[in-house]
Amino acid sequence: AAKEEGKGKYIIFDPAFLQAFSERVNMEKYLRKALERNEFMVFYQPQIRLRNGCIYGFEALIRWNSPERGMVSPLSFIKIAEDSRLIVPIGEWVLAQSCMFAKRLQDEGYGDYKMAVNISVVQLLEDGFVDSVLRILEKSGLNPEQLELEITESMIMESFHLVISKLDLLKSKGIQIALDDFGTGYSSLGSLKNMPITTLKVDKSFIEHVPEQEDNRNLARTIVMIGRKLGMRVVAEGVETELQLQHVKRAKCDLVQGYLFSKPLPELEALELVRSGRKYPVKEDKLPSEDL
Ligand code: C2E
Ligand code: MG
Ligand code: MG
Ligand code: MG
Repeated sequence: AAKEEGKGKYIIFDPAFLQAFSERVNMEKYLRKALERNEFMVFYQPQIRLRNGCIYGFEALIRWNSPERGMVSPLSFIKIAEDSRLIVPIGEWVLAQSCMFAKRLQDEGYGDYKMAVNISVVQLLEDGFVDSVLRILEKSGLNPEQLELEITESMIMESFHLVISKLDLLKSKGIQIALDDFGTGYSSLGSLKNMPITTLKVDKSFIEHVPEQEDNRNLARTIVMIGRKLGMRVVAEGVETELQLQHVKRAKCDLVQGYLFSKPLPELEALELVRSGRKYPVKEDKLPSEDL
């Protein structure tokens, strides 16, 4: 808060502001150390194909395993990592780890799994982003078709032409592009058609109320339909209940991801899951037919 007193102007800081500021500075320092000390981990959440219940791929999700704070969620540090640009080396590390993991699954004979990796707008706008992705991918030996980069609508709107040209280049190399949290941003249907998007992820806020709210159900169904009409793969994220599953199946989603199937897993557990050859029961249609 600023206050005017007499002839001079004094800025009086709120102690809470100062505290928040120093926490941010500290956090930045800790994140830098965390990277040096190798304290970040990548967890993998399976995406399941609705057609057969098989695992189609994984989404890579970062965690910070801090000796002092325990397992820290990305929601509490991604923003700070972006503001300090630390997200650039952190993001490269996540990409390298997850490409190597997918390659390992392939080398051990378990199959060609898709690996979806979240990309920050700060990374995407960085000079040399495309080269860096291609370099990391090549070093891992993974097929470009197995890598999917997840971006959000707001990222596209931020710097439309630059973003589209970078995505076009990546897509021309075979890399898949997913639009994450779809439906929460502002992208128009018209622009969606011309964007180099291969996969649409229906945001979990739509999935959440799908069973009991007809408007959400219709919205989710429409989004799936649009994606399919545009030739995209459609993923429902945040599926937590059997009823939600039944509805996204009815809507003809291709893939599902959510706690009903699995939480994001540490690498070893994800490996065990793949080794087990697990299939999820998704076939049976349990909804009454008037629901159509
Ligand atoms: P997102 O990309 O939309 O990822 C999906 C989030 O939903 C993940 O949260 C996941 O654990 C959670 N989730 C999965 N299934 C369910 C479910 O059934 N119910 C509910 N309620 N949640 C579910 P997480 O891992 O905490 O990540 C949060 C966000 O942090 C991600 O949202 C993404 O935007 C960002 N993020 C995560 N990893 C990275 C990364 O490596 N780089 C960047 N730039 N951002 C990341
Ligand atoms: Mg994502
Ligand atoms: Mg999402
Ligand atoms: Mg998100």
